[in-house]
Amino acid sequence: MIAVPLATGFLQAPSFLDVLYIVAFALFIQGLRGLAGPTTAVRGNRIAAVGMAIAVIATLLDRNEGDWGLIALGVALGAAVGVPAARQVKMTAMPQMVALFNGVGGGAVFLISWAEFRRHGSSYGAHTHIVGIARELPSGAIVHTGIILSSSALPTYVAIFSVFAAIVGSVSFWGSNIAFGKLQEVLPGRPITLGAGQQVVNLVLLVLALAAGVDLVAGAHSELLFIGMLVCAALLGNAVVLPIGGADMPVVISMLNAFTGLSAAATGVALDNPALIVAGMIVGASGSILTNLMAVAMNRSIPAIVAGGFGGGGAVAGASGAGEHAGTVRSTSAADAAIQLAYANRVMIVPGYGMAVAQAQHAVRELTKALEARGVEIGYAIHPVAGRMPGHMNVLLAEADVPYDQLEEMDEANQEFGRTDVSLVIGANDVTNPAAKNTPSSPIYGMPILEVSQSHSVIVIKRSMNPGFAGIENELYYEPETTMLFGDAKSAVSEITAELANI
Ligand code: NAP
Repeated sequence: MIAVPLATGFLQAPSFLDVLYIVAFALFIQGLRGLAGPTTAVRGNRIAAVGMAIAVIATLLDRNEGDWGLIALGVALGAAVGVPAARQVKMTAMPQMVALFNGVGGGAVFLISWAEFRRHGSSYGAHTHIVGIARELPSGAIVHTGIILSSSALPTYVAIFSVFAAIVGSVSFWGSNIAFGKLQEVLPGRPITLGAGQQVVNLVLLVLALAAGVDLVAGAHSELLFIGMLVCAALLGNAVVLPIGGADMPVVISMLNAFTGLSAAATGVALDNPALIVAGMIVGASGSILTNLMAVAMNRSIPAIVAGGFGGGGAVAGASGAGEHAGTVRSTSAADAAIQLAYANRVMIVPGYGMAVAQAQHAVRELTKALEARGVEIGYAIHPVAGRMPGHMNVLLAEADVPYDQLEEMDEANQEFGRTDVSLVIGANDVTNPAAKNTPSSPIYGMPILEVSQSHSVIVIKRSMNPGFAGIENELYYEPETTMLFGDAKSAVSEITAELANI
């Protein structure tokens, strides 16, 4: 008989390790609850990290096998790369960092599945051995007295989950690498497609990977077939993400993150590791919810994002390009902007990606403090996809000690613009573009926006008339109540603060 290579069942053997796992799960969930609000987010993150440390320790204690030297080397190498990278990364580079770390997760999952296949692949599929029972007679003759059936098969679900994890992990690893390359500008951000045949190629790759997987589960003991399946999934990961434009990349990363979570959970089932199942499902579920929220905030359907072709960072077909607009743009100076702000009753700050690039959040906080000292009421209008990742603006403003009660979510802010004297738009573009409401041919038509033009006047700080990430011109800049203060966000805001002192 071949031993079934599963660890001790979680439910059958309650033990100290199970208690450790349950503590870890409780900490994951508590950590996730903390992440729901800016005041508790840092604590939530730490709680979840402690939970993960406990889960890792429990898993290491659970396995009697394994090379401790290799494990220690892996931990040391991972920490040597991960800790400085996480400490040094700029907030603006966070999406590509997430893509890279997510890819590493997917890569680990498909490598584990491969290693498991090498160890137990011969037990995939149903194999029942017929074993004869024989007895030796006193005369020395051997007589058969019966037969028994012995099964050397892994339960089919283990093979299915292993193969699923290998395919999805491989798609996620390669897709995340492409996403990283696009955001880091190692690869062009524009959609790279094979044209009309793209969807057919994707479908063929998917069918090939699935067919290989089915064959393996049914008992084809071929490592070559397993590698072929991984290669098809790898090509699929590349083929799915290459045609997607840079502007959609954060949504794609979130989707790949959900994939990695699901593949990790599948590995957990195959390895009988409850920590992997729970952590993987949490990542899978939260990644799916986040993907949906982002798609809704951009008014894009997930299938449309995966089909690709939007957000290449250049002008998009059907949209008017910079400079084509017939209207005039009025520019202003820091001194004039300071006067406008100083005599306002209420000012709404509208931050966007440019504030993040310029790292202007501390300068913005200084400006708003100076205005508050003059009795001006301040609010910050936060669009859910301002910047390059969910919560981007919240994180930056929290870093600059902006009071949370001044942050207004889009719907709330849109009700306030009517009673706002000056909206100060700092490096935000697409999220303020009225074309999303007024121009059906615009690629962002239907995306909810911050309706800044309802305020009495608008000052926009940006360096040029260049478009934002969607690659389209902003009608707001030509409206009569809008003036442009051209310059880097940090210097322009600091100049306004300096001018305020003279008023
Ligand atoms: P945006 O539309 O990308 O525009 C940013 C603007 O900042 C640019 O027009 C740029 O103009 C300006 N800028 C850049 N560097 C600057 C600097 N140093 N100083 C001053 N201005 C600077 O940004 P957004 O309004 O925040 O919109 C976010 C975009 O990303 C949307 O299209 C959204 O759909 C997309 N997106 C976001 C997420 C997310 O999770 N947040 C996810 C997916 C997609 P100049 O070059 O003229 O300065």
